[in-house]
Amino acid sequence: MLKVENLHVSVEGKPILKGVDLMINPGEFHVVMGPNGSGKSTLALTIAGHPRYRVTKGKIEFEGEEITVLGPDERAKRGIMLAFQHPHEVEGVKIIEFLQQVLAEVKGIDFAEAYDLIVKKAEELWFKEEDLHRYVNVGFSGGERKRLELLQALLIEPKLLILDEPDSGVDVDSLSVISRKIEELHQRGTAILLITHYGRILGHLDREKFTVHVMKDGRIVKTGTGELVDRIESEGFTKLFEEVGE
Ligand code: ADP
Ligand code: MG
Ligand code: MG
Repeated sequence: MLKVENLHVSVEGKPILKGVDLMINPGEFHVVMGPNGSGKSTLALTIAGHPRYRVTKGKIEFEGEEITVLGPDERAKRGIMLAFQHPHEVEGVKIIEFLQQVLAEVKGIDFAEAYDLIVKKAEELWFKEEDLHRYVNVGFSGGERKRLELLQALLIEPKLLILDEPDSGVDVDSLSVISRKIEELHQRGTAILLITHYGRILGHLDREKFTVHVMKDGRIVKTGTGELVDRIESEGFTKLFEEVGE
């Protein structure tokens, strides 16, 4: 479904990704780990089509078609969603209106029908109806921001959901509900690309289910099973990189 081939990406003229290969089939669960600055967010934002990230070499295909130069809206329509590492505040835009707009654009659902759907799903992520009349992320805690990203994902049900550090800055209760909802989406058929630095969230997920990729300096240097997570947690990235000759 997703095929990333020899991807090189520059940001403001600076090369960040230096040849990433990644293949995700429908419904698979992939985890990307790596130290700070290794290029995880760059990979996520590039797949989602963020305009600041310029592909200088290689390509991205989705469902057999090249999407390397498509804009983010077109990629969203095709079924790719990115849940941001740092979701932004949007002053003046109410959550409910924002989500109604998203559902109209992505799924063609009218505003009235969307309203009830949003309120119902929001409860599953601990948002009350009155919360939905607040502005997007304004004054929100880390946990609330990440739960709102998950709410969007549950409503959209993307074919591919990329989660950039859904566990960073999140309280333990939010982390547990976020993990359950990621698993729910996965069970319903969404392919997952989950990025995590510390692997904190992986303790809440079934390691049997996923493939782990480790990034260093803009490349994937190791791919393995869930066991890799334990090794990284007990020994750190440095030891692993030494072993693979990096
Ligand atoms: P990670 O998510 O693994 O921590 P990033 O993809 O955020 O890594 O960053 C990789 C490298 O690219 C870092 O050196 C970072 O400073 C640089 N970088 C990322 N985004 C930008 C940007 N918008 N402008 C300038 N440099 C950037
Ligand atoms: Mg980082
Ligand atoms: Mg990052």
